Parts: sequence; C-alpha cells; structure tokens
Amino acid sequence: MTLPPDELRHLRVLRLRPGDRLRVFDGRGQEAEAVLERLDEGGALLRLGEAVQGNRETPQPVTLAVALLKGDKLSDVVRAATELGVARVQLLQTRFSDVPDIGEQKLIRLRRIAAEASKQSRRAVVPEVLAPVPLLQLPLGGQQAFVAHPGSAERLSERLDWSLPVLLVSGPEGGFSDAEVAALTAGGCVGVTLGPRILRAETAPLALLGAIAALGV
Ligand code: SAM
Repeated sequence: MTLPPDELRHLRVLRLRPGDRLRVFDGRGQEAEAVLERLDEGGALLRLGEAVQGNRETPQPVTLAVALLKGDKLSDVVRAATELGVARVQLLQTRFSDVPDIGEQKLIRLRRIAAEASKQSRRAVVPEVLAPVPLLQLPLGGQQAFVAHPGSAERLSERLDWSLPVLLVSGPEGGFSDAEVAALTAGGCVGVTLGPRILRAETAPLALLGAIAALGV
C-alpha cells in the first residue's frame, strides 16, 4: 500500500525499521496490522495483515454542531472533540457568531487537526469537519438532537438512548437568539443544561461530549 507524505514522515520520525509491526487505518473505520517491509528515499512498503476491530466508536455516530468561534478556538474544539469520539463536526453560522465565516485554508487546517487527533487517540475514523451552514439550515430529522442552552431543565445523560444518531448543538460566546432556540426546539431539538455555571463557547461542546464519554461508550 502507498502512504500519504505526512504518514511517510511520521514513519521516519518513529525510526521504524523493516520488520517492525504497526497498525494502519484508512480514516473510514478500517484498521489492520501491518509489517514495514521497506522504508527509504523511494517511499515505504507495508504488508497488510489481519484486519483489527478497534471498537472505539460510539454506538451511534455523534455530530457536534458548533458555532463559529474567534481566533484558534475551533482548533482546540476539533482536537478534543475528536478525542471524545465525535463522528462529524458541523460548523454553524448563528445570529451572534463571533465571526461570520471561515476561509478554505482554516477549514483544511481543522481537517488536518481532526486527522492528527484521530491517530493520537487510536481511532480508525477521522471525523468529518463540514463547512459552515446557517443554523436554520441545520438538518435535525432522523437524529436525537440536543442543544446546550443555559437554564434548560433536561440532562443529556438522562435523555440519550442511542436509538438514533446523535446531534449536539453548541452556541457562540453571545449565545443563541430566542428565535434560534425556538426554531431548534420546534424541530425536535431538546434543550439541555451543562450545570448552573455559564461555560465559555469553546468549553460547552467538550462538556457535552464529556458527558457522553463519561457513560463509558
Ligand atoms: N449569555 C449566553 C447565554 O445566556 O446563552 C452565554 C453563552 S455561553 C458563553 C456559549 C454557549 O455555551 C451557549 O450558547 C450554550 O450553547 C453553551 N453553554 C454555556 N454554558 C451552558 C450551560 N450552563 N448550560 C447549557 N449550555 C451552556
């Protein structure tokens, strides 16, 4: 099999030698044992062995829909969300979003961060990072959808039952507008609390995903 340049560099950094064993994955859930047969200027040759069932994914895919945030905060969110098992990150434009949009280069960087975090956390799946959509165009159907909204009475851990894919929605620093909350709840999205304290916009998504990780799935 051939490896992308980043992975070749990684093999060299690890100083692997012919005969060394490693695990490879394709980013879409396939994972296998492999033996390094050759590593030189011309590239690497790997012999694929047994498929491995890593079993590191949640019972249903979890999508995190997160409002666009200032500076580099989304990098931290994507990195930690990947470690916490998210299957997809959908960026959101909301009424009070800190920034109106992100450029193509930043999106590419977020995707690279997801790939690196996936490898670090030994997942065989690299979460998708999807270009921003307006909140009101976020598809809610066919999923168990939850929106983190201060003052909500419901708790995620008590409502989640894994019968359907999960959608978690988290707002910008300025919060959601009343109209946005009304549209989400009208679409079946359940408002959930993250406790009596107000979390920063980059902390709230991780508290949502942390509540799932704490279930041990
Ligand atoms: N003044 C804003 C408000 O009242 O919505 C605060 C927004 S908070 C800094 C950013 C986002 O984090 C919120 O839109 C919400 O999605 C989430 N969040 C923060 N603290 C929360 C809490 N205690 N419960 C539920 N969601 C919370």
